[in-house]
Amino acid sequence: MDLFSSNNKTENNKIKVTDEVRDRIPDGLFLACPYCGTQIYNKQLGDYRVCPNCDYGFRLQARERVALFASDFVEFDEELTIDQTDFPGYQGKLDRAKKQTDMKESVLTGSGLIDEQQVALGIMDSYFMMGSLGSKTGEKITRLFEYATKHRLPVVLFTASGGARMQEGINSLMQMAKVSAAVAAHQEAGLLYLVVLTDPTTGGVTASFAMQGDITLAEPHALVGFAGARVIESTIHEKLPKDFQRVETLLQNGFVDKIVPRQNLAEVIGQIVSMHQQEA
Ligand SMILES: [Zn+2]
Repeated sequence: MDLFSSNNKTENNKIKVTDEVRDRIPDGLFLACPYCGTQIYNKQLGDYRVCPNCDYGFRLQARERVALFASDFVEFDEELTIDQTDFPGYQGKLDRAKKQTDMKESVLTGSGLIDEQQVALGIMDSYFMMGSLGSKTGEKITRLFEYATKHRLPVVLFTASGGARMQEGINSLMQMAKVSAAVAAHQEAGLLYLVVLTDPTTGGVTASFAMQGDITLAEPHALVGFAGARVIESTIHEKLPKDFQRVETLLQNGFVDKIVPRQNLAEVIGQIVSMHQQEA
C-alpha cells in the first residue's frame, strides 16, 4: 500500500503524513480528542460532537449549535456586515469566513426557545475568523441585549473567540465597552444574563462580556483565558500547570459556576431560566 511506502517514512520509521497521503485519508473519519488525545471514530462523537472518553465538546459552527439547542429560532441582523476592509488581506479572509460559516459576522443572534424557555440567544462562531470581535460582531451583540432589555427576556450567550479583530484596530477594542454598557442596562432592568463558555474563549471577549454573566456555565475542558499560554510562559519564564486556562481551573478559582457536558446544557439552561422567571 502506497501509504506505507518508504518515501512516506521519516528516519525514525514513523509515517510522515504528507499532503499527498492526507488527501487519501477519508475526510474526518478518525479524530483525536484535542484534550485527552483519544482516537475517536467520527461517528462515535454523536450529534453533540462530544469525546466519549472525557466529555470534551468538539468545536461547533454557530448554525450547528443553534440546531442542537434551540427551536423556533428567529435570526436578527442576518445581513449586518463590515464594509470598511482596507487592511491588507482582510477582505479575502472575510469572504472565506462567510462562505465557510454561512454567516456575515462571527456571531449569530436571534430569539428562540431553549428547553421551552423563551430567550434572546447569541452564539459566537470560532470558524469565522477565529470568532474574533469585529465592530459588527459587537454591534450584533449590543442589539441583542437591547432587544432583550426591551422585551424583558433573558440573554443566553455562547462565547467562542480568539479575541479582538486586529484588522479593525481600535474599532474592535471599542466593542468591549459598547457591549458591556448594553449588558449593564440589561442587568439594571433585573434581567438574567447567562454565559456559556465554549472552547476557546480568549482575549478581549474574556476581558469583557464573557465574564459579566449573572451565571457562567462552561463546556468541559474548554480553554478560557486572556493572553495565550505560550506568551505568558515566555514572559514569566516558568512552566505553566497542565490545566492552566482550562475551565476546571477557572471553576476552582470562582470564575465559573458550573461545568456542564454539552448533552445536558439545554436542560440546565432551561432550569436556570425558569427559576429566574418564577422569582421575577
Ligand atoms: Zn477526550
